[in-house]
Amino acid sequence: MDELRYQIDLLKAMNQKMSGREKMFRLACNTSNNAFLYYDYEINELVTFGNWEKFFAFSIDEAKDIPLILDMLEEKYVLPVRELLFLEKSGEEQRSEESCLQDGRTWYEFEARVSYGENGKPIDKIICVRNITKFKMQYEELRYLAYYDDLTGLYNRNYFVTLLTEFIRQAEQEKDIVSVLFINLDDFRKINDSMGMVVGDEVVQQYGQFLGSFSNRNVIVCRMNSDVYCMAVYDPCGSRSVEAIYKAIQDKIAQGFLLSNGTQVHVTVSIGVAEYPEASESVLELINCAEIVMFKAKAAGKSQLQYFNASMLQDFLQTVEIENKLKKAVFNKNFTLHFQPQYYTDSRKLRGMEALIRWKDENNKMISPTVFIPIAEKNGAIIPIGNWVIEESIRCYVEWKRKYGQDFIISINISSLQCRKDDFVPHILDLIRQYKVNASEVEIEITESILIEDFVEIKEKLITLREHGVRVSLDDFGTGFSSVSYLNELPIDTLKIDKSFVDKVLGDESTRIITESIVNMVSKLGYESIAEGVETEEQFTYMKKIGCDVIQGYLLGKPLSVEEVDEMFIKML
Ligand code: C2E
Ligand code: CA
Ligand code: CA
Repeated sequence: MDELRYQIDLLKAMNQKMSGREKMFRLACNTSNNAFLYYDYEINELVTFGNWEKFFAFSIDEAKDIPLILDMLEEKYVLPVRELLFLEKSGEEQRSEESCLQDGRTWYEFEARVSYGENGKPIDKIICVRNITKFKMQYEELRYLAYYDDLTGLYNRNYFVTLLTEFIRQAEQEKDIVSVLFINLDDFRKINDSMGMVVGDEVVQQYGQFLGSFSNRNVIVCRMNSDVYCMAVYDPCGSRSVEAIYKAIQDKIAQGFLLSNGTQVHVTVSIGVAEYPEASESVLELINCAEIVMFKAKAAGKSQLQYFNASMLQDFLQTVEIENKLKKAVFNKNFTLHFQPQYYTDSRKLRGMEALIRWKDENNKMISPTVFIPIAEKNGAIIPIGNWVIEESIRCYVEWKRKYGQDFIISINISSLQCRKDDFVPHILDLIRQYKVNASEVEIEITESILIEDFVEIKEKLITLREHGVRVSLDDFGTGFSSVSYLNELPIDTLKIDKSFVDKVLGDESTRIITESIVNMVSKLGYESIAEGVETEEQFTYMKKIGCDVIQGYLLGKPLSVEEVDEMFIKML
């Protein structure tokens, strides 16, 4: 009897323990965010538990209900999942290769496991269904971030490089061409400054979406950064040819982009094109070449497309080399000045001397200022260089005045960037004071382009300088804008007629007419005229005859070193 009670108590205790375990097991299943399907092979029973009801609107009570699961799947997932659900299927472990989509928003992953008895027969099978929607979304987001540009939805730079690499690999096999277009919006900074960053972003976005409309299996488009896009065209032809694409871009520009604030913008682009294999066989070099050409297109007046050619790369490499050498030269003040005399036409007496910079690089090779000054203007090195020129010219001038007692004007070339600096005027006036020179013997030479860039501000500065007695000369007249009509508004003392006029004046009737009328006008306005680059006696005689005041050129004197100027003054004593 005791034995029986003991057995009953034991059974009760075991039952309690079992139901405790079952509670724990159910709790674990319900909180695991999975649904389960359990099949017992011996008694042919199917049970669902866990989150089944939460996940699915149907229940599975027997094997013939299983197709209900398949019904909710997208076509491409049906086969692998059927395989996995197939109850008699043996095998240790199965997982559906792909996640499965239900109603387009929820992703499930199916995994099955079968256990076997000693006789090798299956005992039971459990199929675990996981809701992986959150993971899938995060994955998609990461994938998007890795491949796409947030603002425009175009590919990003990295992915573009990957795809372009694939294009190039294929083109190498097929002996095809790939065109790379480097596309940059013109004057984008102005849009940002005048309309604000939000509008700027919208322009970038709309342009990006428009350029994206060219994409197909042969055209890939990306946003590189800011307002720069890149396009690669595999085997360009027909509507995919670079010309056709550019034409479509131009049409769109003419039509304009309608922004959300209602304004219509017509932003042009500068495009550089480099082709595989002609420009380069390397992906990054191709992009670089296209970028170099894009800068060329910008420099040539924007709103245009240019193609890469080998000499461009040469120019670019030369510019980079000069830029690097220039940095060292500025640091070591590795420059000298030459001075070219200017003479009054009637008396042939010395009027002044123009300071001209000279630079010999570390290999003692002379690099012309026409080559390095534009580079220095672009990268800002012209500021220290220009400051050195101003002070060194005044220093030499003071020294010669002291040694030889001659009166003459020292002319100093000034670049646009120097002129635009806030301290430009005080800097010159300080030097004049410091070296105790007569301001009316110091002349600055500026070009028309400086004035055109910022007429009001520069005019103010020139007026101030002239109020202090400093002379202002307009250099290279005739090469740029050259409107005689605005001459009377300029705060200048002297006008230098460019060498290109002097060169042609004897042989070309229309040049002669223009030159004569310039000299006439200049004298009527009370300015002094200087003819530049006079090389022959005939040119001299002609310029004198039409009333030009001063002559500068190889005929009367080439630019001289400091020592040669000393010799010149000694001869004059
Ligand atoms: P520029 O101001 O028009 O200077 C005149 C240039 O013509 C000088 O060339 C001079 O050597 C050259 N030249 C003078 N007479 C004749 C002639 O009869 N025949 C020929 N074929 N050439 C003649 P350079 O010294 O090579 O200077 C070239 C340009 O570089 C200058 O043109 C000027 O724009 C710029 N530059 C030179 N020095 C400086 C400087 O210190 N600062 C700045 N900002 N620019 C400078
Ligand atoms: Ca000059
Ligand atoms: Ca000149």
